[in-house]
Amino acid sequence: MLAWPAAALDFPARHNHWRKGCAGILTLDADGAAFRQIGAKKEPHAWRWTWADIQRLEIGDDRRVRVRTYRDSRLRLGADIEYEFLLDGRPDLVPVYELLRTATDARFVARLAAPGAKLEWELPAKRVRGAGGVLGVLRVYEDRVVFAADKPGESCTWRDSDIALISSSGPLHFSLTAAGAGEIFEFQLRRSLQPEQYERLWLRLEAQRGLKLLHEEKESAK
Ligand SMILES: [Zn+2]
Repeated sequence: MLAWPAAALDFPARHNHWRKGCAGILTLDADGAAFRQIGAKKEPHAWRWTWADIQRLEIGDDRRVRVRTYRDSRLRLGADIEYEFLLDGRPDLVPVYELLRTATDARFVARLAAPGAKLEWELPAKRVRGAGGVLGVLRVYEDRVVFAADKPGESCTWRDSDIALISSSGPLHFSLTAAGAGEIFEFQLRRSLQPEQYERLWLRLEAQRGLKLLHEEKESAK
C-alpha cells in the first residue's frame, strides 16, 4: 500500500502510451506525483514519484501533465523516462499550482496563468517563437510573472525563484530566461514598458538572488 499525504489533489486522467493509453487517477501533492491505473485486469500501471525522482514536472492548461524522471529508458538507450497524462474534463489547476509552488523548486513548470494577489503592471504582448508566436498579456504580480496566452498550453507562471534573468532591449521588448532548463521566452510588447516598471522588477529579482546567495553561503559554511 502507498501512503497518500493529506493535501493531495486527485484527477481522473489518461496515461498516454500505445493503444490509446490507460485510464486512472493522477495525484499531485507536496511530496510529488503518483498515478494508478483503474480497472486493469492484471499488472495495472502504478507509480509514485517523490521530488528526488522527478527531473521536471510540468502542468498545463491544455490538461497535459508531464513527469520526467531521472531514470533511463532501457528501450531508448539512456533517454530519460517521461510520462505524459491528459486530465479528464476541465480541471482547475490553480489550486495545484498554489500547493506545489511552495513545495518545489524550478523543476516544477507551470504552463498556465495562476494570478498572484497583487497585480503591479500588465502589458499586451506576443510571445515570439520562430516565425510565429502567441498573443497574450504579460502580468507582473508581487511574487511572480505570468504570461496569460490566448491559446491553451501556451501560458506560463514563473515564481520569482523560477526566473534566472530578465532583459529588455527597448520599451517594446522583454525577455525572460527561466531557471532550471534555461528556456528563453521572448516577448514583443504591444504597449510600451515604462523604465521604472522594468527597474522595479529587476531590483526585486536581484534582491531575491542576493538572499539566495547568502543562504547558500550559510549552508556551505555549515
Ligand atoms: Zn498506462
